[in-house]
Amino acid sequence: MSDRGFEGTEDLISRLCQGDRRALARAITLIESSKAGDRGEAQFILDEALKAAGNSVRIGITGVPGVGKSTFIERFGLHLIGEGHKVAVLAVDPTSKVSGGSILGDKTRMEELSRDPRAFIRPSPAGGTLGGVARRTQESIIACEAAGFDVVIVETVGVGQSETAVAEMVDIFLLLLPPGGGDELQGIKKGIVELADLLVVNKADGDLKAAAERAAAEYHAALGLLRSPDPDWRPPVLQCSALAGTGIAEVWETIGKHQEIMEAKGARAAKRAAQAGAWMWRDVSEGMLERLRGDPAVAEAVTGLEAEVQAGKTAPGTAAARLIGLFLGK
Ligand code: GDP
Repeated sequence: MSDRGFEGTEDLISRLCQGDRRALARAITLIESSKAGDRGEAQFILDEALKAAGNSVRIGITGVPGVGKSTFIERFGLHLIGEGHKVAVLAVDPTSKVSGGSILGDKTRMEELSRDPRAFIRPSPAGGTLGGVARRTQESIIACEAAGFDVVIVETVGVGQSETAVAEMVDIFLLLLPPGGGDELQGIKKGIVELADLLVVNKADGDLKAAAERAAAEYHAALGLLRSPDPDWRPPVLQCSALAGTGIAEVWETIGKHQEIMEAKGARAAKRAAQAGAWMWRDVSEGMLERLRGDPAVAEAVTGLEAEVQAGKTAPGTAAARLIGLFLGK
């Protein structure tokens, strides 16, 4: 199968582990594929990739559209490359399914970073459920690490759907905030703030500098009222200008501090272990559901049962038990 430029799966894996970006792109295409054959090949690749994975800082970044995520990631990525790192950027964008278009799908994003051979940028996989997209992103992180990327950024739009999924696959979750306080502060969902390990007010430049400072102070005060989930880490509030490039180095330093503290007490390894376990169970539930839905006996009964449930003739629990029974051949 050299049609894709690789002499079979072994060759693809070996090139992937040598840091070949084309091999990485191909591996992720297989990971994202829903074809059964591709899935099998992707699993095989992942089992091998896993042996070379785990050596990156996994950073989640979220923020509402327009807050400056792509401008920030470009600056931040270029800064990291300048320090000798290799940076991969993956996107989780569940809106791509709903709207047909994608908030993160704009091709002109991160132009300079995407041209650099020390960076790898992959837009969001199109379609599928949030769970499916998240699983594929999680697997793609492993592939990026096997290819030697030591910083993996997972970007998501802060519209309240995918943040939890992303927070569950990274070491540190960064929330990028606009420089306004007041109403804008109200508009950001409290749940998202609670997920964040680090808050960064962007656009602290020019006319917006004073507003950014006020916003940072307000967030700082608001965070003081929340109970920090980790006694050793109270989420700091930083300011930066992605456009001017100020405050970017401090963000990286703060992430470094977080890593140090978490590693020292074994929390990073514990978090990753828990994430991997949860990931397995999510896969079990999704896989089981997929098989159940594909089962001929279930398929035959499901429409009728669903109608009975909707008409109030059969209790939902009874119908569910019957479907599971049919699937298990009982
Ligand atoms: P995204 O939708 O979150 O990815 O936001 P973009 O990175 O596309 O930025 C949205 C707009 O904000 C663009 O017009 C940027 O030029 C602008 N922007 C981004 N970062 C900054 C910044 O630090 N300062 C200022 N003044 N504008 C910025």
